[in-house]
Amino acid sequence: MIDFHCHLDLYRYPSLAVEDADKAGIHVLFVTTLPKAWPEAQKMIVGCPNIRVALGLHPEIAHERESELSLFEKYGNQTKYFGEIGLDGSPQLRNFQDVQARVFHTVLRLAAEMGGKILSIHSRRATEQVLDSLASHSDFGVPVLHWFSGSQRQLRRAIEQGCWFSCGPAMLRSAKGKAIAKMIPRERMLTETDGPFAFVESRPLQPADSWSAVESLSNIWDVDLQESVSILLHNLKDLTAKVQLHAPAANVRSEKIFG
Ligand code: MN
Repeated sequence: MIDFHCHLDLYRYPSLAVEDADKAGIHVLFVTTLPKAWPEAQKMIVGCPNIRVALGLHPEIAHERESELSLFEKYGNQTKYFGEIGLDGSPQLRNFQDVQARVFHTVLRLAAEMGGKILSIHSRRATEQVLDSLASHSDFGVPVLHWFSGSQRQLRRAIEQGCWFSCGPAMLRSAKGKAIAKMIPRERMLTETDGPFAFVESRPLQPADSWSAVESLSNIWDVDLQESVSILLHNLKDLTAKVQLHAPAANVRSEKIFG
């Protein structure tokens, strides 16, 4: 299946997490939280054809890592994927809104300069600000809002602005999450886990748990599991074909579904 937002390097045993995901044949977007993690993340996935690494700078640590923005210029042309990026409006981060915005705007600008990227975006308590930021840029590629937690009105705005969405088991268990998932156009839906930060019954989710999200979507869509799988794999193929690498690096691989 597809886990379009997972922090494989932050599990207690990262190499086991990679191995399990690889053996289970899950298509994983391995998001990083700081640009410095990029070289090690690349090494971790050698020999795993279904895993891609996204270059990220998580908004929760933007104020500590702004200096690493230069690494987006260094590594950015090696990947079609930027994430985890975005904004977080939680009260404890209130003092860092300016630096978060500066970082997010810079990453969007760089994505555009590099010909567009697929972006895995965090928007907790900052949905409106994220949508405003996206609206103030162009040509940055395709935004994928991970674990959308805004209002239904904001969801309609996000859909109008061309956003895609990745939804995981934790989100799809709540009534609010289910209502949101129901409103998302099927052709813009992907699954995720956000492991190891998201849990089920005190166990951190792993990429194979994305199957649980597929089951939830089957119920929401009222189609059988096979049909959901087919929709989601088609979406992944469609999404990844929207962005091309403009300066391909030697270690960039391509294949049928997860290009
Ligand atoms: Mn995350």
